[in-house]
Amino acid sequence: MFDVETIRKDFPILSQKVNNHNLVYFDNAATTQKPQAVIDAIVESYTKTNSNIHRGIHTLSQISTNLYEAARKTVQSFIHAPHDYEIIFTKGVTESLNLVAQIFSEAFLEEGDEVIVSAMEHHSNLVPWQIVCERHKAHLKFIPFNHDGVLDIEAYKNLFTEKTKFVSVVHVSNTLGTVNPIKTMIDIAHGHNVPIMIDGAQSVQHFPIDVQELDCDFFAFSGHKIYAPTGIGVLWGKEKWLEKLPPYQGGGDMIKTVTLEKTIYNDLPFKFEAGTTNYVGAHALGVALNYLTNLGMENIHSHEKDLMLYATEKLSQIPYVTIIGNAPEKAGAISFEVDGAHSADIGMILDKQGIAIRTGTHCTEPIMQYYGVPGTARMSFGLYNTRDEIDYFVKMLSKIAMMFQ
Ligand code: PLP
Repeated sequence: MFDVETIRKDFPILSQKVNNHNLVYFDNAATTQKPQAVIDAIVESYTKTNSNIHRGIHTLSQISTNLYEAARKTVQSFIHAPHDYEIIFTKGVTESLNLVAQIFSEAFLEEGDEVIVSAMEHHSNLVPWQIVCERHKAHLKFIPFNHDGVLDIEAYKNLFTEKTKFVSVVHVSNTLGTVNPIKTMIDIAHGHNVPIMIDGAQSVQHFPIDVQELDCDFFAFSGHKIYAPTGIGVLWGKEKWLEKLPPYQGGGDMIKTVTLEKTIYNDLPFKFEAGTTNYVGAHALGVALNYLTNLGMENIHSHEKDLMLYATEKLSQIPYVTIIGNAPEKAGAISFEVDGAHSADIGMILDKQGIAIRTGTHCTEPIMQYYGVPGTARMSFGLYNTRDEIDYFVKMLSKIAMMFQ
């Protein structure tokens, strides 16, 4: 049973008032709130078990190491990865995406080569590729999208040449909410023998992910967007790629032996985890993923789907409000504009009513350029949101939209 009112009690922050109103938190695409179990895991780690991992033979270090490695297995099972040693802990999806861009280009990208991304990428999956393409004199190519916010798959097919070396694409757009047909896109890339990375920052918290079924080569996400703390993220990569690729950073833990002249690198996954990692964050991420598994990702998906359909229908009926992005399959986020109003003003007025939304470019400036707008207002859902919250939001937004006419 997915009982949202009971579930909300697990999230202490939700019961507070903001600006004298009950908090309505619709900024989940930016970051999610944390259940008590995750908060407890962090507090307990620092009050009872804290010790650096992998390096100590004393009891606390072993407990800490066990919690860290157990979290790796939890992530493995959550995304159905074949091996736990393919799970690399990073500080977030941005680091995961940069890691792959840096080391893949170092190993395989040559002058004149091509990399494909979409035109709806978050800056985190665009700028790293701009940097490495510039460095290696390679070309970055873009999959266009149409006015509904749907990627043009025929155009994508036509972007491939014998020079194409890599594809990196967002699973769910944080701005448009579009769920991209990544299975099809992965199969097309593999048809050209090209590896593909998926930015799962906005998908993994909304529906079940099975990296083996998808058959992508890399999959990345952030902990803080999936009810875990900030400063922890995941990169999953196929063993065959992780073995072939050079390390990202040098330091402790990523080595087997070191002499003054030479280093033998450690095995996976440690080869990519230089220095003291965020082991407390990793443990808390594991707790968050177990929490979601207990609720059931399918249940979360259908609850949020209901919210998405309900909110879309209600928003469409508000005069002077226009939804940006009308893909047939959407998850998580709805961007909109209000005639005559700047998105920042909408966000500020809603905040006075206790409603938290995000406004601006959402780190996707090329999307704003495509629609010719300076920014949008964006409401985004989490598992604890309700239809009542949407009703309150719609009532407030209707008044505000009228005010600006
Ligand atoms: N990719 C997408 C699709 C996102 O929505 C975000 C954050 O909003 C990121 C990447 C970057 O996430 P982080 O700041 O957690 O690294």
